[in-house]
Amino acid sequence: RPLVTMRNVSKSFSSGTLALSDMSLTVEGGEFVSLLGPSGCGKSTALRIISGLGDVTTGSIDWPSSRINSKGLPDGDISFVFQEPTLMPWQTVFGNVYLPLRLKGVSKADASDAITAALETVGLKDFAKAYPRELSGGMKMRVSIARALVTKPKLLLMDEPFAALDEITRQKLNDDVLRLWRETGITVIFVTHSVFESAYLSNRIVVMKARPGRVHADFPLQTSLERG
Ligand code: ADP
Ligand code: ADP
Repeated sequence: RPLVTMRNVSKSFSSGTLALSDMSLTVEGGEFVSLLGPSGCGKSTALRIISGLGDVTTGSIDWPSSRINSKGLPDGDISFVFQEPTLMPWQTVFGNVYLPLRLKGVSKADASDAITAALETVGLKDFAKAYPRELSGGMKMRVSIARALVTKPKLLLMDEPFAALDEITRQKLNDDVLRLWRETGITVIFVTHSVFESAYLSNRIVVMKARPGRVHADFPLQTSLERG
């Protein structure tokens, strides 16, 4: 079933830049899609629109109707992971992962099991009491992934999440993301400009081109990516 559908979306900024032109994309539940393309082709803009954080100039975006809040946006069902982990330095790992649930008004006691489960998924259960400054770059990124998972989203959007990390760390995190995709049934859209990374990770590659940004090629991959 389609999880999200962009229909003929165009997006122009007030600067006059036409970032996306007539872009259509349907992502089915359970897919692992890489969004690939040169810098400036509109990958981040497309991801923001899919998340509900960015609006469209023309065209439309559909999420499953059961999940729409009073503002017409998908609620808690979509999480974002950016290249910068942006953890709060004065909060422990536990406190950082709690944040999305705290913002929804869930008490710490009620959130505790979900936080522990999210930390377990990224292999950091024993680091709940640590502070971000005590963690390596790769571990901070894993906290950021745990924070994205704690609301049990249907769709995980990742915008060049590991681009700033060294090769070995990046490879480990790619394996972590694959494992969590297999174990949780989550749908992932992963922005990258690495062809290697997209082929390693996903079971569908959507290539975009620039000026104006739109889908240039869209193909399934026959990989060893199997669930279950
Ligand atoms: P990508 O993620 O593929 O590098 P972006 O989605 O970030 O591409 O950007 C697509 C185009 O839109 C680029 O030309 C970029 O400069 C422009 N752009 C992105 N965000 C803004 C903005 N907030 N205001 C004006 N132009 C923007
Ligand atoms: P990076 O990914 O930045 O290289 P890692 O995540 O590999 O960092 O971890 C850096 C160090 O932290 C490692 O040497 C490892 O011993 C320790 N570490 C990372 N994750 C865990 C964990 N789940 N349990 C125990 N130690 C860990």
